[in-house]
Amino acid sequence: MSVPLRAVDVIIKKRDGQELTRAEIQFFVRGFAEGNIPDYQASALSMAILLNGMTPRETADLTLEMVGSGQTIDLTDTVSLVVDKHSTGGVGDKTTLAVGPMVAACGLPVGKMSGRGLGFSGGTLDKIEAIPGFRTDLSIGEFKSQLKEIGLVLTGQTGELAPADGKLYSLRDVTGTVQSIPLIASSVMSKKIAAGAQAIVLDVKVGSGAFMQTLEEGHLLARSMVDIARLAGRQAVAFLSDMNQPLGVAVGNALETIEAIETLQGNGPPDFVEHCLTLAGRMLVLGKVAATSGEARALVEQSISAGSAFAHFRRLVESQGGDVSYVDDFSKFPVAPFIKEVYPVQEGFYKWIDARIVGETAVSLGAGRAVKSDKIDHSVGVLVHKKVGDRASQDEPIFTIHANHSEVLPRTEERLHEALQYSDVKIEALPYFYGMYDSEGMYLEDTG
Ligand code: URA
Repeated sequence: MSVPLRAVDVIIKKRDGQELTRAEIQFFVRGFAEGNIPDYQASALSMAILLNGMTPRETADLTLEMVGSGQTIDLTDTVSLVVDKHSTGGVGDKTTLAVGPMVAACGLPVGKMSGRGLGFSGGTLDKIEAIPGFRTDLSIGEFKSQLKEIGLVLTGQTGELAPADGKLYSLRDVTGTVQSIPLIASSVMSKKIAAGAQAIVLDVKVGSGAFMQTLEEGHLLARSMVDIARLAGRQAVAFLSDMNQPLGVAVGNALETIEAIETLQGNGPPDFVEHCLTLAGRMLVLGKVAATSGEARALVEQSISAGSAFAHFRRLVESQGGDVSYVDDFSKFPVAPFIKEVYPVQEGFYKWIDARIVGETAVSLGAGRAVKSDKIDHSVGVLVHKKVGDRASQDEPIFTIHANHSEVLPRTEERLHEALQYSDVKIEALPYFYGMYDSEGMYLEDTG
């Protein structure tokens, strides 16, 4: 007769650096999800995982057990191939708002479940809610019928997907165990798999404004998520993209939504446009709409120039109850009453424009939350007019602050100056992408 498993033995095994079996992981995740294993034991196991890591097989097993802890969405009766995208989060990252409509306009349906801002990094739902009336709480039935009807949906994640992850994440948040590659990878991938994704384009952000601060950590996370997908019978590719400086110009909810719409209309900032073309193109290749990335890119460019990407965004807003007059007339978006330009303190070249400081500044203006219950102020934020490598000239602003109170302006300006470093000599621009892992786990420096 086999001896029943005990949570403490699973913890001890991982504490001692041994590999857990699928049965042990299943026992622990189920026990925790059902409330039979207490929070303190789940915290202890999380810490043991953080300190000793997990093999790719253990990480895939943990992911699949978290998927099994809740509902899964089967979209195979709705669309023929479900391709999803996920960013690990950054500053100025409004990519989903532009890429979803681009890809849908090229004929590949996109059903996206997005999140809210976390710390200094923004969240897609907070951004799109700058359009009054836009519903982000669709039921699974509504999600599926809109996906079938217009090929594009953007809503919040239901709590029914991978609930063990939700429960574990809130413990990790308060036990110093967020920064573990296997725990982050399994957390992200469990939600993607539960939401029905068959193929996933992952955007792993690396740099000061990202979870992964170093390229080395970025590689580990990217490889881990691609491995999980393969072991779980899905396909994933993972880009490593720069997040040392903000993406695009706008940081803040209404400002970013406007920038995403401008991008769909062919007027986006160059770095953000390139970012979107690359990710949207790869989604089309994974979705078998295009055979090569060159062909995919041409399709996406055409969806912008022909207006079909913008038309898809408009239809998305209409379908989800948003006031479409905002999309047609940006002057309807709330504008912060105090707008102030910030100029560089010296001439030369920008050597560093710190994404984290810009993100934290936007949050302190009210664009994000200090605690979960805080209300977002959609109108505030920061525009970042220059990139690393650009010339710093004292007649050209580097930032524009959009604030709701005049008294915050001096300290906001002071903090933004701390984001900047200068060089007297010309500095290389930062890359948009460092490389990508293909679905076999091969690393390619060329992301084109
Ligand atoms: N995002 C997630 O969904 N999970 C993590 O663990 C970290 C970031």
